[in-house]
Amino acid sequence: MALVDRADFPRDKLCGGAFSGRAQGAFARAFGGEMPEAPHLTRSAITFGAFGETLGHFEDIPPIHLTMRRSLDLALFEAARAAGARTFTGQAPEALALDGARPSLRVGETELSAPLLIGADGVSSGVARALFGRPFDPKEIGFALEVELPEDSDPTGFRIDFGAAAWGYGWVFPKTCGTTVGLGGIHARNPKMRESLAAYLAERGVSGTPRIKGQYLPFGAPRRVPGAGHVLLAGDAAGLVDPITGEGIAYAMESGRLAAEAAEAALSEGRPERALIRYRRALGPTHRAMAHARLIRPVLFQPLLRDAFVAGFRNSRSLKDDYLRLLAGELEYADITRKLAARMPRHIWRALTLPRDKRHGIAARLP
Ligand SMILES: Cc1cc2nc3c(=O)[nH]c(=O)nc-3n(C[C@H](O)[C@H](O)[C@H](O)COP(=O)(O)OP(=O)(O)OC[C@H]3O[C@@H](n4cnc5c(N)ncnc54)[C@H](O)[C@@H]3O)c2cc1C
Repeated sequence: MALVDRADFPRDKLCGGAFSGRAQGAFARAFGGEMPEAPHLTRSAITFGAFGETLGHFEDIPPIHLTMRRSLDLALFEAARAAGARTFTGQAPEALALDGARPSLRVGETELSAPLLIGADGVSSGVARALFGRPFDPKEIGFALEVELPEDSDPTGFRIDFGAAAWGYGWVFPKTCGTTVGLGGIHARNPKMRESLAAYLAERGVSGTPRIKGQYLPFGAPRRVPGAGHVLLAGDAAGLVDPITGEGIAYAMESGRLAAEAAEAALSEGRPERALIRYRRALGPTHRAMAHARLIRPVLFQPLLRDAFVAGFRNSRSLKDDYLRLLAGELEYADITRKLAARMPRHIWRALTLPRDKRHGIAARLP
């Protein structure tokens, strides 16, 4: 087994580094053990805000671990190496040939080929581009901006602010070595994201001009068929980021494991061409969860429903609990859709779930 990455490890990756209960579960299933061996802070209390207002501070939440990807990804890289992967890092692979029964590529002087290849090369995936002509759909893609504040700065603790970016949220995540502040949302709806970040930093009391970095994130736009032929796509390359929470680490580890298991099973039956079918089937529950999340997303972000969401989140313990249990991996979006369908006025729910051309009146203005 060969692991190819254009970067050398340790390397930085733009990310809030929130490692949820769902990520812990995915890590345990993929690597064994409770937590990767990387420095982290653990928080069991959080402040939520929405559209410029603070909704409240909540204690006794399921723990969330806050890491730097530089050390987290190094731990995962070492775990893969310990499991027997030959590593080729520090050079971008060239001469990708993905058609046919033995995908191949070249790293420096070394030619590599195998009956199956898993493309886990992130949101701007060269493998997805080679297969499909582009790594993601620009109409669907998300974008996020972040700054890293030094250890001695103290913005306002650990918090998430819905709506800090349009159809997205902002975050303040404390780390062992400083604080990450950022925001992200659907790219097409945020033509002035830098201005939104400046406003968010000012609200959080951050002064000065910290260095801003940005990156796309595939905010709930999974590829229906995660690969082609003898190539499977995992993580961001397969579009696997939660469309509401923006969580992607858990889905990257989980899909990587499922792709590897599908590959192993297909190879052991001597039919590598079956790996993609197996993998797609294994990803079914994740795809369905993301479809449910996309259905719910307008309830949070659509201006017509926003006030009801804010009031509901502020006053209903169960809505907050659901969000946190979702992050912890204890609840799935299908459970939340069922609850919402039971509570929401029937005409609004129908409007959200109907195709746009079949809506009338207020409903037609919903996304
Ligand atoms: C600003 C921001 C904040 C986020 N915050 C969170 C968060 O707090 N919690 C969370 O769960 N998720 C978060 N996410 C999402 C999360 O970062 C991603 O979903 C996750 O990193 C996906 O993992 P991946 O392995 O698929 O891709 P990546 O982590 O991007 O890894 C891709 C790897 O491929 C390598 N690579 C790239 N191109 C090539 C190439 N051509 N050839 C070879 N190698 C290549 C890269 O060097 C890299 O090592 C955030 C995303 C952003 C942008």
